[in-house]
Amino acid sequence: MADRPTPKAWIDAIHPYVPGKAKSADGRELVKLSANENPLGCSPTVIDALAAAHSPALYPDPDAKELRAAIGALHGIDPARIVCGTGSGELLHGAVQAFAGTGDEVAFSRYSFSLYPLLAHKVGAEPVLAEAREYGADVDALLAAVTERTRVVLLDNPNNPVGSWLDAGEVARLHAGLSPDILLVVDQAYAEYLAPDLDDGGLALAAAHNNVLVTRTFSKAYGIAGERVGWATGAPALVDMLNRLRGAFNVTSGGQRAALAALEDQAFVRRSRQANSAVRARFADRIAMLGNHGLSIVPSEANFLLVLFEGALTAEAAMGALAEAGYAVRHLPGQDLPHALRITIGTEAQMDEVAAVLRREAEAAG
Ligand code: PMP
Repeated sequence: MADRPTPKAWIDAIHPYVPGKAKSADGRELVKLSANENPLGCSPTVIDALAAAHSPALYPDPDAKELRAAIGALHGIDPARIVCGTGSGELLHGAVQAFAGTGDEVAFSRYSFSLYPLLAHKVGAEPVLAEAREYGADVDALLAAVTERTRVVLLDNPNNPVGSWLDAGEVARLHAGLSPDILLVVDQAYAEYLAPDLDDGGLALAAAHNNVLVTRTFSKAYGIAGERVGWATGAPALVDMLNRLRGAFNVTSGGQRAALAALEDQAFVRRSRQANSAVRARFADRIAMLGNHGLSIVPSEANFLLVLFEGALTAEAAMGALAEAGYAVRHLPGQDLPHALRITIGTEAQMDEVAAVLRREAEAAG
């Protein structure tokens, strides 16, 4: 008899999610440009809502009714078709868990959110990578990756870690190419950062079809990652599945209050989007000027940029120099990106400093 409980063998296949770092190797606090958080923080209305009296002794509303009503009102969705989660991560997990298990496949594009393989492994399913095109999802490759064992297709749009984006025509083409018994999840974690005229059509597809789920989060443009609130919408049967699988009191009282307050301040979201696109463009221009040193960026619609290092300065050396200068960025060698750094768009002053460090290092490296 074993002298301790024996975990299930499939747990060995799980590589725990590795979050973006905030400290240097020698333990210094760094400016965190490694987890795609909002450099403007959150709306002051959120701080007020969290400070207002509420009883921590009482359980939260298990169904987040007020929050679902507010999300529904903003997006024109029946609240009965909305489920809230402990971040959108809980709902992505639920979606995979509901439809995929041992022997099944979960397909997604290369350079997708690093949580996706973990979600497949957690339910004993096989993650299947479709080849990307210019670091973005390729609908034809995704459809070619589908087999009779595929149960779920995950599309982060914009995708993380690149920020590339598929338009409504491409997302509809992907959906049209999938048989109706395959779930398509359109993960719109960065949707609020898209220019107002960009819409990937995910919400319209989720309203019209039984096999499309859209997930959203309050962790990015709304700036309340620490409160862990996300939501999903789709056909009633999909929402019912997620309600069965989620934690009973999954969104805390503070999380519900914070998300409600965050929704009320759409001006803050607009400011965040505008600041992000202006600073992102300015930073991209500065990196473009280092093209002769092998640095380049991949166009991004999100609040981060993937910087490629294909000259004398390596991504690893650049990350070390940025840590020296006080900045944490994300190196993703495990995602086939040893030659790149994902850098969250911070404030203008932060990004000017990051660009200056990269320029100095690139010039010194030759
Ligand atoms: N989807 C994508 C593409 C993400 O990048 C993230 C967070 N990094 C999430 C979902 C999950 O975010 P949360 O659980 O905080 O909602």
